[in-house]
Amino acid sequence: MIEIHDLHKYFGSLHVLKGIDLNVEKGEVLSVIGASGSGKSTLLYCINGLEPVQQGKVVVDGTDVHAKGTDINKLRQQLGMVFQQWNSFPHLTALENVALAPKIVKGKSKAEAREIAAQQLKHVGLGDKLDVYPSALSGGQQQRLAIARALAMEPEYMLFDEATSALDPELVGEVLETMRMLAEEGMTMICVTHEMGFARDVSDRVAFFHQGVMEEIGPPEQIFGNPQSEHTQKFLANVR
Ligand code: ATP
Ligand code: MG
Repeated sequence: MIEIHDLHKYFGSLHVLKGIDLNVEKGEVLSVIGASGSGKSTLLYCINGLEPVQQGKVVVDGTDVHAKGTDINKLRQQLGMVFQQWNSFPHLTALENVALAPKIVKGKSKAEAREIAAQQLKHVGLGDKLDVYPSALSGGQQQRLAIARALAMEPEYMLFDEATSALDPELVGEVLETMRMLAEEGMTMICVTHEMGFARDVSDRVAFFHQGVMEEIGPPEQIFGNPQSEHTQKFLANVR
């Protein structure tokens, strides 16, 4: 479980997260929506300890992410992250890219790491691309490679930061399908997304962020069908 208590984040004097309280249960899929600059990415970076916080805390499976003495590298193994654009190692094949972290971070043998990598590449529909270099993959395939790479660490949670935003429109669907598959398999996911169809169809809950405040959170039927906050209403009217 991810527990966020009264989380405040500043960049200098800029107050970017203003007291976020949020729990994400095992198996839950949460979509995070909101305008540019509302703090969505920052929230993810605070969850996996990429950014320090100034007040409040984030607790992942009982471990305080920002406490002194927390082994952040170990904790991050539980939190797979997929960014808008993921730069794979161009000189390594798809298989080698995915096998790298299990081998180096988890200390798996070369054979084990390659086995895990092959499995995860098949899982995301790239079973026929094991020996291909990233430059020969489409944008959608590269994002699925990024997902496979995160999954190869056997994380408990997956954090997606606009995983489809940099893709040509015709490539978005295959990545969303892979994310939907993970959700159906029971993966716990926090998805920052501009894809309202995905947020509506796949999430258990949707959180709307406005200027560093989580203005509204609820099941998709509520957020899309009967939004309570004026800011949510305005945002949705503009993205539809
Ligand atoms: P987008 O939809 O454009 O990705 P977002 O909701 O993810 O937006 P954040 O990237 O979390 O927004 O940014 C929140 C605020 O914090 C913005 O005002 C941004 O300019 C600021 N910010 C983000 N990262 C930094 C940083 N490293 N240093 C200073 N300010 C930052
Ligand atoms: Mg962002």
